[in-house]
Amino acid sequence: MSNLCRLIREKNRALNRWEQYYGKDELKSFPLHIQFPTGTTCNLKCLFCTERDGIKAKRYDYKNLSFEQFSAILKYDGWRHALSCAYKIELYGWGEPLCNPDYEKIFNYVAANFPGIGIIISTNGTMFNQKWSEKIISIEMSEVNFSVNSASKKTYHRLMGSDLFERVTSNIRYLTDLRNKYNTKNPYITLSYVATLENIKELPEFVDLSVDYGADCIIVQDTMIFNEKTEKLSLTNDPVLAYKMCERAVKKAKEQKIMITFISFETHKGNYFPPNPEYNDDQNIFGAQDIHCEHEKIPRAFFTDTDCFDPWERFMIRADGEVFPCCQSQTFPEFTLGSIYEQNFLNIWNGDAYRYFRKMINTSTPPQVCAVCPRKEPLE
Ligand code: SF4
Ligand code: SF4
Repeated sequence: MSNLCRLIREKNRALNRWEQYYGKDELKSFPLHIQFPTGTTCNLKCLFCTERDGIKAKRYDYKNLSFEQFSAILKYDGWRHALSCAYKIELYGWGEPLCNPDYEKIFNYVAANFPGIGIIISTNGTMFNQKWSEKIISIEMSEVNFSVNSASKKTYHRLMGSDLFERVTSNIRYLTDLRNKYNTKNPYITLSYVATLENIKELPEFVDLSVDYGADCIIVQDTMIFNEKTEKLSLTNDPVLAYKMCERAVKKAKEQKIMITFISFETHKGNYFPPNPEYNDDQNIFGAQDIHCEHEKIPRAFFTDTDCFDPWERFMIRADGEVFPCCQSQTFPEFTLGSIYEQNFLNIWNGDAYRYFRKMINTSTPPQVCAVCPRKEPLE
């Protein structure tokens, strides 16, 4: 990455941190983190996947973002600056990104035109072949999350409805071997595990496998309850067993020096998850992007444990083009901050809705979506 590209991103980060500190609502800085969805199609049909056959699915209509649509959006004012200043872009959507026939063109365009932006992919790994390993390894601060969710072929088949467990694991191994061969930290590799009653007993074994595969971190996520099927799968049905297995997994992860973290949803607050282990500054669970940055001397704006600065740092686009300050708020459609198909970047980023969020979020009367957010009501 050229020094100039690095410097621009670091300056933007520093300005963004100062603007947080002084509680600015109209920002001169650009977001640090952009999520740009590339499509909603998928080649699997996991039991726990967000309602792909229900009302939500109709809204997204299983569409892929075409390269033409993508380039048309980037012509709107502000987008080129935003992508030249952000630290990372999540380039995937509510589906398997590699199912989009234009994904490679979109990826190549971002990599070639915005050097220094960390590209993040979340994939089920079934199509993440050697070509993709070789591509991602050349992107500085890149990250790949593989959604594996099982430690055995049998459980994988039951949960993911596919026989591709071995293909996925060999794709992960190829990438980690390549990373070792080139002696690089790119990409940061996480393996995700949506914890359900079907796979919770395998979680400790999954820790062993993740070490064996050479991953950096394990992300254990709660199952979202949105219909009868997911209600039956949920760990809420056996919190004692779930807690025991999670504790065992944490113990193994500590022994084998792999990071593990647990993420709950607001619906049931995952009291069957143990507290997240604490890691030092060199072990950022979500990647290396926070290390070695100029902002270290800038005071953080957190005054209480419940303060949230996502509306300063994040620009998250939903599959239908609506913008939100975080993943959590995407479940409240009435709170959209704008649409990338109708407005230019700057009109959204410094529009009335984003500014309202920044003004109110850390007050005693935050926007409704924030008032019910777990970030504002930390787990006991
Ligand atoms: S791989 Fe991901 S997007 Fe595809 S069905 Fe499974 S959970 Fe859903
Ligand atoms: S919903 Fe939660 S995470 Fe999102 S901006 Fe509000 S407080 Fe922050």
